[in-house]
Amino acid sequence: MNAPDTDSELRAAAAARQRATLAALRTALLAVLPPHCLLFDEEDTRPYECDGLTAYRQLPLAVALPENEAQVVAVLRACRELRVPIVPRGAGTGLSGGAMPVAEGIVLSTAKMNRIVAIDAQARTATVQPGVRNLAISEAAAGHRLYYAPDPSSQIACTIGGNIAENSGGVHCLKYGLTLHNVLRVRMATADGDIVELGSCGPDAAGLDLLAVFVGSEGMLGVVLEATVKLVPKPPQASVIMASFDSVVRGADPVADVISAGIIPAGLEMMDRTSARMVEPFVRAGYDTDAAAILLCESDGLPEEVEEEIARMSAVLARAGATAIAVSRDEAERLRFWSGRKNAFPAAGRISPDYYCMDGTIPRRRLAEVLTGIDALAVEYGLRCANVFHAGDGNLHPLILFDANAPGEFARAEKFGEAILALCVAAGGTITGEHGVGIEKLDSMCEQFTVEEIAAFIAVKRAFDPARQLNPDKAIPTLDRCAQYGRRKVDAGLFKFAHVPVARHA
Ligand SMILES: Cc1cc2nc3c(=O)[nH]c(=O)nc-3n(C[C@H](O)[C@H](O)[C@H](O)COP(=O)(O)OP(=O)(O)OC[C@H]3O[C@@H](n4cnc5c(N)ncnc54)[C@H](O)[C@@H]3O)c2cc1C
Repeated sequence: MNAPDTDSELRAAAAARQRATLAALRTALLAVLPPHCLLFDEEDTRPYECDGLTAYRQLPLAVALPENEAQVVAVLRACRELRVPIVPRGAGTGLSGGAMPVAEGIVLSTAKMNRIVAIDAQARTATVQPGVRNLAISEAAAGHRLYYAPDPSSQIACTIGGNIAENSGGVHCLKYGLTLHNVLRVRMATADGDIVELGSCGPDAAGLDLLAVFVGSEGMLGVVLEATVKLVPKPPQASVIMASFDSVVRGADPVADVISAGIIPAGLEMMDRTSARMVEPFVRAGYDTDAAAILLCESDGLPEEVEEEIARMSAVLARAGATAIAVSRDEAERLRFWSGRKNAFPAAGRISPDYYCMDGTIPRRRLAEVLTGIDALAVEYGLRCANVFHAGDGNLHPLILFDANAPGEFARAEKFGEAILALCVAAGGTITGEHGVGIEKLDSMCEQFTVEEIAAFIAVKRAFDPARQLNPDKAIPTLDRCAQYGRRKVDAGLFKFAHVPVARHA
C-alpha cells in the first residue's frame, strides 16, 4: 500500500492508528485491572477531561482507577509496553491543568486508594495512601489532638497525592511550612513501574534529597503510592484579628511589618473589597464590606502566648492605619471569620459567570506596589479582578472575572493573567505560587527561567522518565517553545503551539 498523502488520508490513518492503540490498550488494561476499575466510554471519561482549570479540556483514551499498589504498577508497565502516556490524577481540583489528559494517553486516578494506613501519635506521623483527602488526615488524627498543618482551601476535596505533586500551601503554611516541609517520606512508582522510597521517617535520609525534587514535580516524575506526613499538636487556643483598611496599599504595608516585628502569625491573609462583597452575602462571616481591604491575622498557641501576640499584632495594625480591628471572641467566631476566606473562590461565581484564578508569589515588601499594578492592568484589559490571598507568604491569587460567552473575553483574561505573572517576576517573585505550572504557565516559565535552567529541568525529567511517559508536556516548556515565546513577544502573539490544546472558550 502507498503512503497516504492527502489530508483526509492522513486523518483516516491517524484515526485507524488510534483505534488500534485503543483496542490494544483495552486488552492490556483489562488483563491487569478488574472492569469496575476502568472507564472507556465517553460518557464515563468526560468528567476527567479537565481539572479546576476548566477552560482547557481533552478527553483521555481511558481512565484507570486502581485500588492498590500492584495495580498501579501493572498499569504503568502495560502503558510503557504500548508507549501510551499517563496523566496521574487525585481529586482534579488543580487550577493549572496539571491533571488534564493528553490526547493519546490515559488518566491514572489514585482516588480509590484512600486508606489511612497508620496514625502514630507518639512519632506524630500519619501514613496514608495517595487518595486520602487532605482534611481526612486531620479528622483521623483529631482524637490524638494532632492535625496535618498544610491546609489548601480545597482541603475538603483535594488528595495528599495531588498536594505532594503540587507542593500545596494554605493559610497555616506561613507558620508551619508548605507540603514539602511536612512530608517525611514518599513511596512512589516510576514510569517503568519500579517502586522507590524517598525520604525517611527519621530526621534525615541518606543520599541525595530526591524527596525535595519529587515534591512539586506535578506528576511528571512518578506516581505517589503512599506518604508519611508530620502531624502537629492542636494548639490549645487560636484567635484571629480582622482589621479593616481604607486602601489596599495601606492594608498591604503592615503584612511585612507584622513579620518584621518578630511575629510569625498562624495565618495572615488579605481580601480586597470586591472579594469581601462577593463572599459576605454567601457565608455571612461578618466582614466589613465598606473597607477597601481586610487583613485576617491569626495567632495560635498557649492562651498567654495568643493574648500577647494578638495585642502586639493589633498594635502594628493600628499604627499602620487600620480603620477597625475586631478580635474573634470564641472558636465559633474564629471559624466564621475564616469561613469567608475559605469560600472566596466559589463565591466568585455569584458575581461573575466565570473566573480565572492566577497564582504568583512576590516578596512581602512589594505587595502594595504589585497590587497597584494589578489594578492598572484591570483597567488596561477591561476586566474586573478580586484579590484574596496568602498575604504573609506574598502568594497572590488574583481572581480575574470574565464571561466565557462574550467573544474574546477568555483570551483577554489569559493575557491579563500572563501580565500579572510578568509583574510578579519583575518584582523579584515567581510565577509558581502554589498551584503549579501545569499547562497554564508554560509560557510564563520561559519568562522566568533562562534556557540553561529550563535545560536542567528537562534533564531531571529525563533522568526519572526517559521515555516521557508521565504527564508529558506539562510544567516544563520545551526549549523550542521558549525560543518561540521570545520571538512571539516581538511578533505580537502570532505563534501557536500545536501540542498544547487551545482553550475551549478562546
Ligand atoms: C476552590 C479551590 C481552592 C484551592 N485552594 C488552594 C490553596 O489554598 N492552596 C493550594 O496550594 N492549592 C489550592 N487549590 C488547588 C488544588 O486544590 C491543589 O493543587 C491540590 O493539591 C490538588 O490536589 P488534587 O488531589 O485535586 O490533585 P489533581 O488536581 O488531581 O492533580 C494535581 C497534580 O497532581 C498530580 N497528581 C495527582 N495525584 C498524583 C499521584 N498520586 N501521584 C503523582 N502525581 C499526582 C497530577 O498529575 C497533577 O499534576 C485550590 C483549588 C480549588 C478548586
